[in-house]
Amino acid sequence: MSYKVTLAPFDVEFSCEENDTILEAAFKAGVALRHGCKHGGCGACKVKVLDGCVEHNDHATAISEAEIDEDIALLCCSLPEEDVVIELNDDYTLEELTPEFPVAEHPLTLAELTWVTHDIAHLVLTLPEGECFGFRAGQYLEISLRGDENFRSFSMANISTDGGVELLIKLMPNGHFSRYLKDQACAGDALTIRGPFGQFGISDTEAPMVMIAGGSGMAPIMSMLRQLKDEKSTRPIQFFYGARSQEDLFWVDQIKSFSLDLPNFEFIPALSEEPSDSGWQGEKGLITDVVARRTVESLRGSEGYLCGPQGMIDAAVDVLKSKGMFSARIRFDKFLISAD
Ligand SMILES: Cc1cc2nc3c(=O)[nH]c(=O)nc-3n(C[C@H](O)[C@H](O)[C@H](O)COP(=O)(O)OP(=O)(O)OC[C@H]3O[C@@H](n4cnc5c(N)ncnc54)[C@H](O)[C@@H]3O)c2cc1C
Repeated sequence: MSYKVTLAPFDVEFSCEENDTILEAAFKAGVALRHGCKHGGCGACKVKVLDGCVEHNDHATAISEAEIDEDIALLCCSLPEEDVVIELNDDYTLEELTPEFPVAEHPLTLAELTWVTHDIAHLVLTLPEGECFGFRAGQYLEISLRGDENFRSFSMANISTDGGVELLIKLMPNGHFSRYLKDQACAGDALTIRGPFGQFGISDTEAPMVMIAGGSGMAPIMSMLRQLKDEKSTRPIQFFYGARSQEDLFWVDQIKSFSLDLPNFEFIPALSEEPSDSGWQGEKGLITDVVARRTVESLRGSEGYLCGPQGMIDAAVDVLKSKGMFSARIRFDKFLISAD
């Protein structure tokens, strides 16, 4: 049994199988709907159901009974009970709904695993000969061990033209995929990815960019920097990167070397817990305080690109807005935890 889902005000329709959520069915049909955690916890995929009826599964926590009574639904947890018509936000465009790189599943092999810090792994994954995984810099994929249904989200650190896939993954205590990386992973392992997902990416403007990342939030920023380098961009770019101590910093020389190709690039690493006698000459303190301290001119015409844990992003958005940046020019990817 399947039901028809229509997206208003566009003429876009797809069918949804009985046990699929509307979000899953959209991905299968190559339709990109906005979403966040994909398991009912963040509310990013909330929409109005204009016609027809949906049932929410048990994961739907970011929606109230009152909202459900008013025909609001979370796409990642909604199962249609009949044909439905969904109303999308006014600012959706047809191009966004039908992306250049539709979601697909690919088998893949772990080629290399390197620990770049004590708790961040760099993975290089290769696709079967002749297969290609296209994506925009800033997007993410879902990955699992072949045959395991516990998919986890990670952002690509490379750019699509490289052929393979590079990820930066922070170990989560007792995390499902983290445990595999720490205890079992070895070159040659068979994995599955699906994607690409997400709207995080570089705008098509020449506006100055303020990039802020912490920990493995480096991944999509690295991908964007690689793309900007390929495009020989002359945009002013400041990259603020927060870590606890020197042992949590990685790829510093590689990032600094972007300034050879990007004439207006500045890299500002900052350490929040570095001992005072360590000899560290760079910035100290929380990365958001460092951004606030070093930003003396208005950010009215600039764009923000933020990536990392939710708390850091919320604080960074406040700082950028306090410096004059418009909310609509702040793009971010929150690294939400899958198991919660
Ligand atoms: C769009 C998107 C892109 C992402 N990209 C990346 C990326 O590029 N790199 C990356 O590293 N992560 C990324 N993440 C986050 C990543 O998907 C989650 O951290 C994921 O849950 C890790 O999977 P896991 O199987 O290792 O851990 P899970 O099995 O999901 O478990 C994580 C467990 O760790 C616990 N935990 C979390 N933080 C702490 C803490 N500080 N102390 C103690 N316990 C804790 C949680 O409560 C949970 O029980 C992204 C997330 C999203 C939504």
